[in-house]
Amino acid sequence: ICWSAGGGWHRPRVQPYGPIALDPAAAVLHYGQEIFEGIKAYRHADGSVHTFRPDQNGLRLQRSARRLALPELPVSYFVQSLRELVAVDGAWVPSGADQSLYLRPFMFAKEAFLGVRPAKKVAYYVIASPAGAYFTGGVKPVSIWLSEDYARAGKGGTGAAKTGGNYASSLLPQSEAYDSGCDQVVFLDQDGNVEELGGMNVIFVHKDGTIVTPQSDSILEGITRDSILQLARDRGHTVESRPVTLAEWRDGVASGDIVEVFACGTAAVVTPIGVLKGKDFLDEQPIGELALSLREELTDIQYGRRDDKHGWLVRLDA
Ligand code: PMP
Repeated sequence: ICWSAGGGWHRPRVQPYGPIALDPAAAVLHYGQEIFEGIKAYRHADGSVHTFRPDQNGLRLQRSARRLALPELPVSYFVQSLRELVAVDGAWVPSGADQSLYLRPFMFAKEAFLGVRPAKKVAYYVIASPAGAYFTGGVKPVSIWLSEDYARAGKGGTGAAKTGGNYASSLLPQSEAYDSGCDQVVFLDQDGNVEELGGMNVIFVHKDGTIVTPQSDSILEGITRDSILQLARDRGHTVESRPVTLAEWRDGVASGDIVEVFACGTAAVVTPIGVLKGKDFLDEQPIGELALSLREELTDIQYGRRDDKHGWLVRLDA
């Protein structure tokens, strides 16, 4: 679907996967004016196809659009775009444990001009791609590298938006993590507060059952995190969303007050954090039961094996 200033949204269509023609001066190629989402479609045992809280992804795409001076796509168009893509081929949402159809909605500035201003011509696309299980051979704890030299986002920046620039700035620290033998990076803000991983939010479980997740205006508000916290509240856990310093994390683990640390996002759902490593330290992290039990509850809802008590699923194939 395309958008132009004056013309609004127009020309919705489904087309075979293939290259997109872009003018070399398209604004997205120079100024990074683009945003995206990530969401999955799940096939249930009865064959029906459902997605999870698409309104939340649609609203987040609108928040990202506002920050990147892009037009807001109505949430109903967003959900319709997923529905139409799923309808193209009834067979391409895989069935089986942990299988899904990954959907990647994205919007970018395609107007051709060399100058810094919001583009007046924009395109919105969705890619669909069958995805297998994130973990083969069971969920494994990940090791985390503390990025001390690089930030993902700054105050007033685009951290809370899902835009390519945030990921571009995470590539170098991510390769530093790999070089240090770690799977993922954790970013801090300028005050030393824990933000998030390159593509996942972080959650701490305290000894008294309190669950804490970092809050700041530069964190991407994960829909998995929001759902996991709701399931934890349903079980009677107290949930706190507040700034968490690196010192609080490390001291909490050392003293035994923090009994579990995990990360969550659409791709991996929930993954325990097994190790936190920095330039001059390596802290083993306590592994508990809660992360995996919440993971199971959430995936059971997504795959229709458990009652969807919050009404999170939206059927896409009917
Ligand atoms: N933080 C970042 C930077 C991400 O890219 C993602 C993945 N979208 C998340 C957190 C988790 O968000 P969600 O649970 O909505 O996938």
